[in-house]
Amino acid sequence: MKRTVRGALCALLPILCLLLMSCAKAQPSSASFEAMDTLMTLKVYGGDPDTCEKLQSRIEALDALLDATDENSEIFRLNTEKTAAVSADTDALLRDALALCDKLGGSFDITVYPAVQAWGFLSGDYRVPDDGELQTLADHIDWRGVKSDSGAYTVPEDAAVDLGAVAKGYAADRAADILRQSGAEAAVLNLGGTVRMYGKKPDGSRFAVGVADPESPAATFGTLSCDEGVVATSGGYERYFELDGRRYIHILDPKTAKPVDNGVLSVTVVTDSGTTADALSTALFVMGLDKATEYYRHNDGFGFILLTDDDNLYLTENLAGDFTLNTDKTYTVNTIRKAL
Ligand code: ADP
Ligand code: MG
Repeated sequence: MKRTVRGALCALLPILCLLLMSCAKAQPSSASFEAMDTLMTLKVYGGDPDTCEKLQSRIEALDALLDATDENSEIFRLNTEKTAAVSADTDALLRDALALCDKLGGSFDITVYPAVQAWGFLSGDYRVPDDGELQTLADHIDWRGVKSDSGAYTVPEDAAVDLGAVAKGYAADRAADILRQSGAEAAVLNLGGTVRMYGKKPDGSRFAVGVADPESPAATFGTLSCDEGVVATSGGYERYFELDGRRYIHILDPKTAKPVDNGVLSVTVVTDSGTTADALSTALFVMGLDKATEYYRHNDGFGFILLTDDDNLYLTENLAGDFTLNTDKTYTVNTIRKAL
């Protein structure tokens, strides 16, 4: 009898091992690190065992190329030497970013950098430039002055570029290339507010992305249920300073060189491309509710959630079925329709 039980156990053992292995496989591998001035967390299901390390080093390498404040970066070199040859990644992102500047009609401009510096957002030595200085800064914000010639770029003498609003999105897209090569089944890459979903989760459920609560950004005000794609949020709460009871945020209106102050607290964009999601979230924030609504009505392939400081939440109709507001939130939820 005993022998039969032992025999049965022995026969079952390989099956048990296989079961355990498949359970282990369903467990994602993860990593958490700082890059691009923010905390990044990666969760990867399946794929090569070193996928997380590969993702991290790709993102860190992009950070080293693109960080305008890093003396060794290509963007720093371009801004100081005014003409520089750049690598394929910097070239690709500059090209995409300039096309987005064109498409987003003045609300997104990668030449805001001198203004970002003047307000002290890079050094932390915050100050309010006077009207004359702001006028000069605004006069020099114009992405059209950035010229390219077979992998080399030139920026005007009084201008400088900043890819801070799109670097995380571009990194998310390049990370997706690595996930594809590694044979990963699914992944959630949270690159500091730009979240890239990849593949399909092993249990078949959709991805759930929490949308940061501007009042306490470690918490969320609601959840977006989504499939493969990118969810990117721009919020005034990310970086700001306060002076004489006023709050000055790190998102600037390129027309005035001043921090945006239009009642918007945060904009979350859902779309396929990380670079586009990132640029759009910044641009729709600058546009404000009315222009953002217009932009949605005239363009396809994305949706957004916009929160204003009078507790109104605006949601494009294509996201209405995917968003759940936390039960403790009393925002008035408004739906933005494609057609009037
Ligand atoms: P975060 O970096 O906090 O995710 P964003 O993606 O909105 O926020 O990017 C804001 C950064 O982009 C700023 O820190 C600044 O460097 C730059 N920036 C600010 N305003 C603009 C703008 N209108 N167009 C392009 N870049 C901007
Ligand atoms: Mg952005």
